[in-house]
Amino acid sequence: MSKERAYNFSAGPSMLPLKVIEDAAADLANYKGCGESVMEMSHRSAEFKTILEDAEKNLREIMNIPDNYKVMFIQGGGTLQFAMVPLNLLRKSGKADYIITGTWAKKAAKEAEKFGDIKIVASSEEATFTYIPKVKKEDFRPDADYVHITLNNTIYGTHYPYIPDTGDIPLVADMSSCILSEEIDVTKFGLIYAGVQKNIAPSGIAIAIMREDLIGFAKDNVPTYLDYKIHADNGSTYNTPNCFSIYIAGEVFKYIKDMGGVAEMHRRDVAKAEKLYNFIDSSELYNCPVNKEDRSLMNVVFVTGNADLDKKFVAEAKAANLHNLNGHRSIGGMRASIYNAMPEEGVDALIAFMKKFQEENR
Ligand SMILES: *Cc1c(COP(=O)(O)O)cnc(C)c1O
Repeated sequence: MSKERAYNFSAGPSMLPLKVIEDAAADLANYKGCGESVMEMSHRSAEFKTILEDAEKNLREIMNIPDNYKVMFIQGGGTLQFAMVPLNLLRKSGKADYIITGTWAKKAAKEAEKFGDIKIVASSEEATFTYIPKVKKEDFRPDADYVHITLNNTIYGTHYPYIPDTGDIPLVADMSSCILSEEIDVTKFGLIYAGVQKNIAPSGIAIAIMREDLIGFAKDNVPTYLDYKIHADNGSTYNTPNCFSIYIAGEVFKYIKDMGGVAEMHRRDVAKAEKLYNFIDSSELYNCPVNKEDRSLMNVVFVTGNADLDKKFVAEAKAANLHNLNGHRSIGGMRASIYNAMPEEGVDALIAFMKKFQEENR
């Protein structure tokens, strides 16, 4: 049984711009008349080289990435970055400081603990990660090799309202679920990484944006693939990359550029999120547990306060073509992920459904 395309509120993999999907579909069997599909072509071919170079060029342009940063496309998603970060950046004292703001931050810290002396500088776990802790420069160990944050917390629906000041200590940020939704001053970071399946492309790669002087410190026993230097020196083609994901990422970067860049994405994201939060805050049935100033533009978490009613909501929404509104399996409730590709009409449809559900279940 076929149905029309749904508004898909999945946290990841998640919606891609329809134009990108349709353009890719038109080119699927024969990419721009070259006689091959991107799925079949050699990663060393002139065609793919252009795809990769254009993707990097456009990402550099829309994120305003300075020349002294390398851009890398690496397999293994966000999770492999949890290991690559300590394996490459624990280079002097062997110490790193982490701020724990959710499940992904915890996983990143736990992975790093296998390789060095990891200190949890702050955590909001005692309040079920409903806020972002305030940290000051003095909270970090002066000899830490790096500080790690998770800028947007996909599961709990929080986002840093500030960038922590770490002084001379390189700041590493997991931006998997907020990259390209806001303008970021790249120079504030030693390393930015993001799994692509939330806001950029089909799953399978992570993008790493790394200051050059931090590359090249992996110890001799670090597996070759996990050394950022191998990816930087070989232009992300040390081995066969995920060509198709890189191709779609490049199409999304072009799309964002044509739409007016990251600033325009941010304007739209703010408008969508404000609408939804305002409705939730003014409603009788729904509640958002997240501290107001720390709320995510991308992942909007809400509950009715009744777990059975939450389940009913998710099921009836699905029947109304509003998909994947269940909260993460670890916390339940509801979560509407409204990444760049979610049109405003999707948010309007969700709010209309929420109103109707509220009427029917008071
Ligand atoms: C989804 C997510 C990850 C994990 O990404 P994978 O590509 O599945 O490994 C890591 N960090 C954040 C913030 C995420 O949202």
